[in-house]
Amino acid sequence: MLQIRKLLPLCLAVPCLGFVWGFFGHKEINRLAVFTLPSDMIGFYKKNIEFLIAESVSPDRRRYAVKDEAPRHYIDLEEYGDSAVFKLPRTWQKAIDQYGEDTLMERGIVPWQIMRAYGQLKNAMMLYDPQKILKSSAELGHYVADANVPLHTTSNHDGQLTDQVGLHGFWESRLPELFFKEYNFFVGKAVYIDNVQEYSWEAVTRAHLAVDSVLILEREVGQSMENKKYSFETRGKQTVKVMSYAYAKAYHEALNGMVERQMRASVKMTGDLWYSAWVDSGQPNLKKLIEYKPSPQELADRKKELEQWKKQRYPARKHEEDDNN
Ligand SMILES: [Zn+2]
Repeated sequence: MLQIRKLLPLCLAVPCLGFVWGFFGHKEINRLAVFTLPSDMIGFYKKNIEFLIAESVSPDRRRYAVKDEAPRHYIDLEEYGDSAVFKLPRTWQKAIDQYGEDTLMERGIVPWQIMRAYGQLKNAMMLYDPQKILKSSAELGHYVADANVPLHTTSNHDGQLTDQVGLHGFWESRLPELFFKEYNFFVGKAVYIDNVQEYSWEAVTRAHLAVDSVLILEREVGQSMENKKYSFETRGKQTVKVMSYAYAKAYHEALNGMVERQMRASVKMTGDLWYSAWVDSGQPNLKKLIEYKPSPQELADRKKELEQWKKQRYPARKHEEDDNN
């Protein structure tokens, strides 16, 4: 958010809220994933859908309060050389053996983070702890959604290396907010995934292979619409400069369904992994947890997390440091 604010005036009053999908996208992805679940699960998830939606953005908030959080949301694949997405060690342990933890953290770890978040959900299911199940489900959905955003798999994550600064928020926040209603979210029922780590790499690979199109098409459309790129909108008492609707539409069309495709993939994958964690943990009886209500301690913890977020102590990316001081 901060680097976009710094370099792109049009975002000053626009909700460039996230590093990923914007808050809007994350919330929708978790919400929609609930409807992919089988009957043994859906009751409990539906009952708690508001929490799953609200907590879908918790990892983005936390990255300001927890030092090691930021790298969990992306991977700068180019740092590893050509064809890295096909060559990198699939498991966290092998990756550490080859590169060391410091290097991995520096370049981002989202494909491995999905596996970790999956393990947390599986443990929560085995512990039969409703609060942990919900929290881990919501957070797993977040990392899954991040891994499906092309710009989360490249060092050029905001178009900053190709003079396209602001592309991140444009692609993942503004486009879905404008065109979400046109998307088809019938993604089918959740299916069991037996190799979650490989599955997360497949998602990262698909996202990464789309990076060139994200960049090239924006440049082409931008050049063809030079004078129509921006417009002004009134938000409250302010008038702000935003990417124009016409420009957003032209770019969205040029992407030929990519935003919808990646969002659908996020929904499906989130549902698949929630379901698989449930199967892998021995199919605990979630129907019996339907009456769960958060304890006063849980409510206090949620409040504390929100307060920490407001402090925003850590930058999410190196070049944001200036803004964050
Ligand atoms: Zn994120």
